[in-house]
Amino acid sequence: MKKTVLITGASGGIGKAAVKAFVNAGYSVAMHYNKSRNETEERCRKLKGLGINAFAVQADISDRASVEKMFKEVRAVLGPVGVLVNNAGIAEQALFSDITGEMWDRMFDVNVKGAYLCTQSALPDMIHEKWGRIINISSMWGISGASCEVHYSASKAAIIGFTKALAKEVGPSGITVNCIAPGVIDTPMNGHLSPDVTEDLKNETPLNRIGNPDDVAEAMVFLAGASFITGQVLSVDGGFIL
Ligand code: NAP
Repeated sequence: MKKTVLITGASGGIGKAAVKAFVNAGYSVAMHYNKSRNETEERCRKLKGLGINAFAVQADISDRASVEKMFKEVRAVLGPVGVLVNNAGIAEQALFSDITGEMWDRMFDVNVKGAYLCTQSALPDMIHEKWGRIINISSMWGISGASCEVHYSASKAAIIGFTKALAKEVGPSGITVNCIAPGVIDTPMNGHLSPDVTEDLKNETPLNRIGNPDDVAEAMVFLAGASFITGQVLSVDGGFIL
């Protein structure tokens, strides 16, 4: 039986690569988007034209009703979600003293509450099946902290705690929970970086390049297929943080 993966943020840089990697690995793929409707629907139509089980679905992951509706729709079209990739997220640069309560709440609503809501919706079917894979996307800044990104770093550190605690709780139900901590990956999220800063980051990376979305997607598919790995943080950062 083909397993179904739901990838949140499948309209973003890393999410698009994740769709490609899971399709190539033989999964049925639910492609979540928030605002990028036309482009995601179009990519989904193309996949379906190739005979691939794909479904594009909208949700604001910071909203419980929206997330519950998304899971209902995915279940109706592709069946229960076996693999959940909590990938959707936002980033923002600001001096700590300029971070308003609204900015702080927004960061945690999307990056942390979003993962909590999606995981809560995914778990009943996984527990019923006694099988599931939850793959959370943190960041190397969640491990090491980034200057001028305290709210982002704190939200990504929260995802690491979430991963480790939930892995202990749902392990007995045959569900693994892991997270990936990407380094600097070439996506729209890093569109603000100047060529000079990008070059510096590249030079600080032992593998001497910036990551690409496929590097992260490859790790997602690996974790989806791994049966005795749980509660782990897998760095996909070219050795940036050792
Ligand atoms: P991206 O290209 O900016 O894509 C962000 C995705 O998140 C989009 O699909 C967007 O959907 C979705 N999204 C944003 N707000 C949402 C909301 N309220 N509800 C639902 N979806 C929402 O980012 P990316 O670089 O691919 O990043 C993907 C993940 O990797 C994020 O969690 C990010 O923190 C993490 N990460 C990225 C890097 C990097 O260097 N790029 C490094 C470390 C970790 P729409 O476009 O449809 O609105």
